[in-house]
Amino acid sequence: MAPQESSNAERPYRQPYLQPNSQLYRHWMRRLLRHCDRMGHDGDIPVAAVVLDAKNRCIGWGSNRRHQAQDPLGHAELIAIGQAARLLGDWRLNHCTLVVTLEPCPMCAGALVQARMGQVVFGAQDPKRGALGGCLDLADHPSAHHAMGVIGGVEAEAASQQLRLWFKRRRGQIC
Ligand SMILES: [Zn+2]
Repeated sequence: MAPQESSNAERPYRQPYLQPNSQLYRHWMRRLLRHCDRMGHDGDIPVAAVVLDAKNRCIGWGSNRRHQAQDPLGHAELIAIGQAARLLGDWRLNHCTLVVTLEPCPMCAGALVQARMGQVVFGAQDPKRGALGGCLDLADHPSAHHAMGVIGGVEAEAASQQLRLWFKRRRGQIC
């Protein structure tokens, strides 16, 4: 599929493979952010993700458990992708959308390309470590054999604010 211009206001990097559904993405993003509100007390950065199938049903869900589980692979996206693949009985997730509160890191962005995720929707941008347009773009890399739609900046302000607050709390500036 050739990349095309799009008029979608939520910063699409390229034409998504699936039909964008802004209202649905905002709904899930707000839901994930509410979940993140209750996270973060155990040392894990509050990040949550969901995988939606072609009919927009939730088939995978994950939140960051790296610290809690002492698992370097315990990122929200990887947990959600694993669940979705097990449920579908298929490692190819072409017809699915992953919604995540923070721009995926290089490990997760690589996994999303490998899983042939149809589309990724993220909230806060991560200019330092984000790998879908922040510090690099693995979806638009010669190694990406698969055209993955990427939409960033959905409920971005709320998502960024939540992370800023968490880091501030961790530094002990507020209680
Ligand atoms: Zn990650």
